Amino acid sequence: MIKQALTPDCSNCAALCCVVFAFDKSESFALDKAAGEVCVNLDDCGQCRVFAERQELGFKGCIAYDCYGAGQRVTQEVFGGRSWRDDAGLTVRMGAALSVMRRIHEQLVILRTAGNFPLTTEERNFARSLEERLSPQDTWTEESLRGFEIDAVSREIAAFLRGLRHHVDDAPGNANPPSGHN
Ligand code: SF4
Repeated sequence: MIKQALTPDCSNCAALCCVVFAFDKSESFALDKAAGEVCVNLDDCGQCRVFAERQELGFKGCIAYDCYGAGQRVTQEVFGGRSWRDDAGLTVRMGAALSVMRRIHEQLVILRTAGNFPLTTEERNFARSLEERLSPQDTWTEESLRGFEIDAVSREIAAFLRGLRHHVDDAPGNANPPSGHN
């Protein structure tokens, strides 16, 4: 059973996606921003000043980005509610944690989607074992995230999804299966 929220809760996040990542001026972003640099549009309360106008102002990339709930989890669970605002030294550390946590949550979303197929008992049990590897009972720490084998687990999930193709072939309308990410 997946207990984690897999959707963003910006009210419990330290606006990590507006700070820790770099982006280049492009179709998706109206300006260059270095990793760890606070976006010029982020106000002191952690709100985006141009939130409602991001599309028109050239910040489509912000609209497309989804942390799958990793942002608030890193902020609250890994860093106990602290923020890079209180300690600039946390910026890089929070960014590193978010990079792994987001991949973990993305894989949980993929497994949740795969659960919509009429899985066999064996498939369901294997999916559950993969979820458990992504959701250790102990809370995540910087150290456990750093050492987590996210590449290996992602590869296993991608292989698991490939093995579900028979559900697609059997399905009326031949819908596409959820896609895995390595
Ligand atoms: S434009 Fe708004 S949503 Fe996008 S990074 Fe800047 S503050 Fe965040």
